[in-house]
Amino acid sequence: MTGTVPITQDVLTIPRKLPEGGRTNLVGLTRPQLREALIAAGTPEKQAKMRVNQVWQWIYQWGVRDFDAMTNLAKTYRAQLTEHFVIELPEVVSKQVSLDGTRKYLMRIAGGHEVEVVYIPEEDRGTLCISSQVGCTLTCSFCHTGTQKLVRNLTAGEIVGQIMAARDDLGEWPKPGEGAGERPRLLSNIVLMGMGEPLYNFDNVRDAMQIAMDGEGISLSRRRITLSTSGVVPEIGKTAEEIGCMLAVSFHATTDEVRDKLVPINKKWNIATLLDALRAYPKLSNSERITFEYVMLKDVNDSDEDARRLVKLIAGIPAKINLIPFNEWPGAPYERSDWSRIEAFADIIYKAGYASPIRTPRGEDIMAACGQLKSATERARKSRAQIAAETGTG
Ligand code: SAH
Ligand code: SF4
Repeated sequence: MTGTVPITQDVLTIPRKLPEGGRTNLVGLTRPQLREALIAAGTPEKQAKMRVNQVWQWIYQWGVRDFDAMTNLAKTYRAQLTEHFVIELPEVVSKQVSLDGTRKYLMRIAGGHEVEVVYIPEEDRGTLCISSQVGCTLTCSFCHTGTQKLVRNLTAGEIVGQIMAARDDLGEWPKPGEGAGERPRLLSNIVLMGMGEPLYNFDNVRDAMQIAMDGEGISLSRRRITLSTSGVVPEIGKTAEEIGCMLAVSFHATTDEVRDKLVPINKKWNIATLLDALRAYPKLSNSERITFEYVMLKDVNDSDEDARRLVKLIAGIPAKINLIPFNEWPGAPYERSDWSRIEAFADIIYKAGYASPIRTPRGEDIMAACGQLKSATERARKSRAQIAAETGTG
């Protein structure tokens, strides 16, 4: 059902200037970019380093949004900053909370686009699943996002802004007088597993993750960030060198014939090429192991033979295999494998010496599970359009 394969990296405009008054949003600027911006707005070069540190800490360590609250800066300097800059995050337009505690946010970004962000609380951690693009250019046949055209890449500010907006909702910025790290973290892990292919928006994803990892701010360790890719081979080495986070790969099949259908980027970089890049990753990034994501599709990729082939293919790569029961969406051309099949598959992998957790679908009642993102919004939009057509207001 994939048809033609648009495996291209579209060149997209990145809005940095905000429309109102042309003030620049500081969220998403790297430290060198922030320095440049402050100097351009009249900060003397000699003071720039100190000012960058101060402003950075207010924004990323304390979660402050108003220059007037930056009390260690002179009043006149605060006014100068207000004149040139804003501190803006994506706007949370709605929040749904699942029976299992999963929270799904709909966030609006410049241009009126919307992305979904999911927070998954667990006993010992809280994981935020964030998006890197609106839609996706790739057309994986089991993925709902893949049926939606790419609208645009997110900016670094919009990517790190999803984390900051979630921290707002969780009430997680330190209170005055409270040191960083005094309370256990509600938002302790990030997965780039929402909408979009992060490695087709590399620079913005890298900048956003560097901001999230910065020790004087959100301060998430690179080991608590997992980037999931469908297999953009040329960018995998760069990810190790320039981000150094944990890597997950949407593997999903054990022969090129099947993978070509499920993950069409395989026609460009096939299984053997992908595995070569993955073999080099742990050493380059100094991270322990790679997560192989494997969606369980009934009678497509779920046989014992597949499980055995998978084990052979990844031999020598430090790995964990994450089995994802297929999450259905309206009109999907696949069915979820039976539970007994998934367990039999997991067992073969486990006996070969690999951890093989089965990802429990979370937040299904609010359509927050993998590959379902955006569908509810799309549905709502459709019904709005239908109403408009019926009433002649469209
Ligand atoms: N584009 C990136 C990251 C986003 S998808 C990638 O493809 O890796 C995050 C994970 O959810 C991927 O492993 C993807 O294959 C999986 N996924 C997509 N649709 C799904 C569905 N309907 N059911 C279960 N998993 C799905
Ligand atoms: Fe894009 Fe990932 Fe969905 Fe494939 S699985 S269409 S790469 S978001």
